[in-house]
Amino acid sequence: MLRSKIWAAMDAEGFARAETWAPGTNENVPVVTVREVRGRRPSKMRPEFVRALAGAGERDLTEEEIALLFTARGTELSELCGVADELRRAVNGDEVTYVVNRNINYTNQCYFRCRFCAFSKGPKSLNLRGDPYLLDAAEVARRAREAWEKGATEVCMQGGIHGQFTGKSYLEYLRAVKEEVPGMHVHAFTPLEVSQGARTLGVSIEEFLRELKEAGLGTLPGTAAEILDDEIREIICPDKVNTAEWSEVMRTAHALGLRSTTTIMFGHVEGPVNWARHLLVLRDVQAETGGFTEFVPLPFVHMGAPLFLQGRSRKGPTFAEAVKMHAVGRIALHGYIDNVQVSWVKMGAEGAKLCLEAGCNDLGGTLMNENISRAAGANHGQEMLPEELEAMIREIGRAPRRRTTLYGTPERASSKV
Ligand code: SF4
Repeated sequence: MLRSKIWAAMDAEGFARAETWAPGTNENVPVVTVREVRGRRPSKMRPEFVRALAGAGERDLTEEEIALLFTARGTELSELCGVADELRRAVNGDEVTYVVNRNINYTNQCYFRCRFCAFSKGPKSLNLRGDPYLLDAAEVARRAREAWEKGATEVCMQGGIHGQFTGKSYLEYLRAVKEEVPGMHVHAFTPLEVSQGARTLGVSIEEFLRELKEAGLGTLPGTAAEILDDEIREIICPDKVNTAEWSEVMRTAHALGLRSTTTIMFGHVEGPVNWARHLLVLRDVQAETGGFTEFVPLPFVHMGAPLFLQGRSRKGPTFAEAVKMHAVGRIALHGYIDNVQVSWVKMGAEGAKLCLEAGCNDLGGTLMNENISRAAGANHGQEMLPEELEAMIREIGRAPRRRTTLYGTPERASSKV
């Protein structure tokens, strides 16, 4: 009991958290952090922090330097966000992009036991939110068709690992969508799904990815990354692909010409050093392959997560930590990954706007039907219309641009959504 109270009351550095905001809640973003992020008041900063920040955009920062940037508070935080914002402006200009897409989570049944996951359910675990479900290929294709008719250019497909799934299941979903809507970009299958698919078919990762590509797969989501540091994976997702396996799927995909996103799911049991290690894994893979399109921080939504409910994790990052992840990601990956996305589902509209002023240039997708964050307890809606996203972007004086998954200009840009 005492231990769970401590977890719930502290931030990633063990300091008391003074705010009620948590990712996915409707709580107002903390005024103090907003002031700090936008403040740029001159006052004392630690000399080692100043040295690390001076390296931003100039050289590759070390693990220690990146971890140090994550400890910014007060003036250091405002300086950090200012530097990230300048790098963003230099790389992306004033444009803020978004994609019109739909999430299709084909099942919420899963035989993995990630301890942070509120989404997956065993076949009989009806005590948790919602009933177990499994969509068939025809239903997935129907949803893709519906999304296309509403103007979407992308479907993002991922889900639990159902006990009966083999590599064939993923191929069936993919083929069903491509047959129904050949023009739809399919962004699908996490490194865990790819590895499980290959294993159940008895083929190599490369062979399976090749088959997926031939069947029309467009890009892969960088989820299942969680924290790419095996010390933390042992605690939060011990039976999932490890850091080396996740990286190997990405390297192999990139070598075949399949690009992917990157994510980090943060704010549970880890801290600045683990975040720094994660960013360095991404930087190293990207230095080899150049296949990552963007970095997407995903703050841990704690409300329905078993780890939190058992009193063994924090309640997501603090608001300042969430902003810092976007800013430090921009700085640490500068010269490697050009796009940093903020998730409005997790951060809310006001939080997302602030992150756009702290290194981000992309707002992600309109996301018709976003189930995973909502299963975890997030309150923000299932869908934002393009007009709503564009209004948010204009409110902070930036220029919206609808994009394709690969940051091109969609041919269907003028379609009514
Ligand atoms: S995070 Fe994914 S793999 Fe892990 S339990 Fe949840 S649905 Fe299954």
